[in-house]
Amino acid sequence: MAYVVTDACTDCRFTKCVEVCPVECFHVDERMVYIDPAACIDCAGCVTECPVGAIDDEFNLPEDKQDWIEINRERAAVLPKLSGPLPPLPTAEPRRAELGK
Ligand code: SF4
Repeated sequence: MAYVVTDACTDCRFTKCVEVCPVECFHVDERMVYIDPAACIDCAGCVTECPVGAIDDEFNLPEDKQDWIEINRERAAVLPKLSGPLPPLPTAEPRRAELGK
């Protein structure tokens, strides 16, 4: 099992999840973060940290979010690891409002 970042992170990228992850399994691009499923130890610490609820365990994902399991695997493999939090993107607060969070 692994935890998965979904599209709610896109254009937010608050990275509060990265602060609590004990194994540095987050990777980053210009719009969001991704979890390396081979590194994740399923502690669930990141889930409640995300202000927009973008992270869930792969077995809880609804049907329309299932694609994000493979997207996290593929993107984490080619993107740089994130060792600490970044400032939220300028679009983060509007995006959070759009998501109703
Ligand atoms: Fe890191 Fe734990 Fe979240 Fe996995 S579940 S990404 S180990 S904080």
